[in-house]
Amino acid sequence: MTRIVIAGPRGNMGKEAVLMVLETDHFELAGVIDRKHDGMTLGQIEGMPNESIPVFDDPVRCFEAVKPDVLVDLTNPETGKVHMKLALENDVRPVIGTTGFTEEDVEEMSGLAESKNLGAIIAPNFAIGAILMMKFSQMAARYMPDVEIVEQHHDRKLDAPSGTAVKTAQLISEVREAKKQGHPDEEETIQGARGADVDGMHIHSLRLPGLVAHQEVIFGGEGQTLKIRHDSMNRRSFMPGVRLACEEVMKIGVLVYGLEHIIE
Ligand code: NAP
Repeated sequence: MTRIVIAGPRGNMGKEAVLMVLETDHFELAGVIDRKHDGMTLGQIEGMPNESIPVFDDPVRCFEAVKPDVLVDLTNPETGKVHMKLALENDVRPVIGTTGFTEEDVEEMSGLAESKNLGAIIAPNFAIGAILMMKFSQMAARYMPDVEIVEQHHDRKLDAPSGTAVKTAQLISEVREAKKQGHPDEEETIQGARGADVDGMHIHSLRLPGLVAHQEVIFGGEGQTLKIRHDSMNRRSFMPGVRLACEEVMKIGVLVYGLEHIIE
């Protein structure tokens, strides 16, 4: 039985993660971290399943009290980083779904996980279809190096571009020589018109109510285009990936950044 704590249980992702953990036979929901309901039980929070699971506002107090194996963090980029560090320092294996980690952050957490011989997973995208989209894009970029990434998310998302778009660009960069796309004399008459530049390829971020998480990777070549698209229609689409991460994090002793390293 894997004992799991969820941070951010009232959020859109957190709610689904609570249900997923409760529905999974080999998982036990040991506690939740919620800054607004310290000392209550999960069932006392409006809209939550009627379970007598303890709620803590302080992660360290939570780790000491319920001794979980895994922390699933679904809060926000700033808090996710803090929680990840605290988890590792307290011998809890983090599964982090919040995005916004810089290369330096990942390096620091990686060192901490290794020194503790603890598994840790940062998954900018838990949707298994999105992982396949990234892998297929990397395959295509080898033969079609001109590419633009268009990512679309709901308008409550805090960071741009999305972690998935950045990760896609990084995977493409591994197989594609850096090249500036578009006309060599191209000029933006309105700043930002061409999006963010990653090694000469562009990422465009759209934010609208009604969207969940969507990405299209568009390749252009002689007389042809190729579009690889993934759509997450709801937050449940992420839960098979969260479940997989909670299982796999128990088997490793290092930090893994991205579910693509687990889905081979
Ligand atoms: P959301 O609905 O806004 O939920 C965020 C939750 O975090 C809220 O319950 C909020 O509670 C809590 N929270 C915020 N700041 C906190 C803090 N300082 N301490 C403790 N709890 C805090 O957002 P969401 O759509 O569920 O997304 C949550 C995170 O997952 C975001 O970072 C998002 O980018 C990420 N995400 C990841 C994936 C993936 O596949 N990896 C997919 C979708 C979303 P309050 O009411 O107290 O503010």
